[in-house]
Amino acid sequence: MSEDVQQYKCPNCAAELRFNPKKQGFVCEYCESFFTPEECKAANEQMNEKEKQERPRREEFAEGNNLYVCPSCGAELVTDKNTAATECYYCHNPVVLKGRLDGEYRPARVIPFQITRQDAEAVFRNWCKKRWFLPKDFMSESQLLHMAGVYVPFWVADSSVHGVMRAVCKKSRSWTSGGYRYTEVKEFDVFRDAGIHFHGIPADGSSKIEDELMEAIEPFDYDGAVDFEMAYLSGFLSDKYDVNKAQVFPRIRNRAVNGSDALLRGSMSGYDSVRVTQSDMQVLRTDWLYMLLPVWFMTYQYQGKQYSFAINGQTGKQAGTPPLATGKLLAVCAAVAGAFALMGLFWGWLLA
Ligand SMILES: [Zn+2]
Ligand SMILES: [Zn+2]
Repeated sequence: MSEDVQQYKCPNCAAELRFNPKKQGFVCEYCESFFTPEECKAANEQMNEKEKQERPRREEFAEGNNLYVCPSCGAELVTDKNTAATECYYCHNPVVLKGRLDGEYRPARVIPFQITRQDAEAVFRNWCKKRWFLPKDFMSESQLLHMAGVYVPFWVADSSVHGVMRAVCKKSRSWTSGGYRYTEVKEFDVFRDAGIHFHGIPADGSSKIEDELMEAIEPFDYDGAVDFEMAYLSGFLSDKYDVNKAQVFPRIRNRAVNGSDALLRGSMSGYDSVRVTQSDMQVLRTDWLYMLLPVWFMTYQYQGKQYSFAINGQTGKQAGTPPLATGKLLAVCAAVAGAFALMGLFWGWLLA
């Protein structure tokens, strides 16, 4: 007789959990969260239920997409079945059709592009205009063809935290009476036991795209997000995530734990002094939304270095590091040096 082995998943990062006999509970090897057997069971039942509801939509996604791979840089790109991808948005090399992306990669939500290619090109030209030392072909029409509308994968987390904080707090007051100055200090043993919920903590799921560049074109307005439909991919590329929940979770947990700690400390602001003696913030549950965010993306190779330029596809905010054309720079330096030499000449006349 075979027994059904129950395998629980971590309610925070979805990694498989192991029972820890010492602690009589489940400890996640990836994110170090701890759960009692009851917490684990309840959370997993909810997770399974959600997965069951998702299944048909995942199958539909697996049917309707094309997965391309770039043999040069390894980027994996997704489009809808009717959109043919030809070049890698990242390194501009031709991509190869690989098959279909598994349904588990189906995004839950998407912020559709608001900025058209035409708008994006105008933003780019404007950005170039303000920069003198750009190499000529950086602004060329053929370079503009490399600008790609990419849906960048993001993990957006809702986390529930159980926070316990204990502190010794003091309140003092002073007064004068009969020539004496009195100070009264009252000491309180303050205890907080709170359930805290965080909504929408973001982290991008693509290792290829620089985090700084994505942060520079923030914010995205999540109110603009809609349920994912295959049709949104039409004419655009989507980057497949390669950083999973377990890898992203430490970043999310840090923000949730620090935020909870600050919140509970803030609730003790009525005292003159606060000395925290215990602060335990446990992330009990994290719900993930796999979301695609719209970005107009362009890379440029110049003298052995790669430069990236990005435009927020929802707001039009742009960011990037401009390549400097050393030839132009030298010419201007020479002109400036020439001007100084001339000035020297004039001074020479004046002083003579
Ligand atoms: Zn975990
Ligand atoms: Zn590539």
